Amino acid sequence: MDSKNSISSMAKIFCNDCKISMPAKKGFMVLNELWEKFGVGKNHLCMDCFEKRLNRKLTKDDLTKCFLNENVNPDTIKILQT
Ligand SMILES: [Zn+2]
Repeated sequence: MDSKNSISSMAKIFCNDCKISMPAKKGFMVLNELWEKFGVGKNHLCMDCFEKRLNRKLTKDDLTKCFLNENVNPDTIKILQT
């Protein structure tokens, strides 16, 4: 599967708020309007910090249907299955 290669080749990313280094598989995608309101533009947030900004837990209605959410990040996979 070449999809695996594209993920491991992603540059290291850091959470804008708590500054932890995020493994690529912990990335997640939310709806544009949500990211515009609560996100950090071209920077990244870990799920914990994004939920803090939202002031609630992410639900499957917040997440986009993308490869990352559906197949890579164990946390979003869990949310999408509920
Ligand atoms: Zn964070």
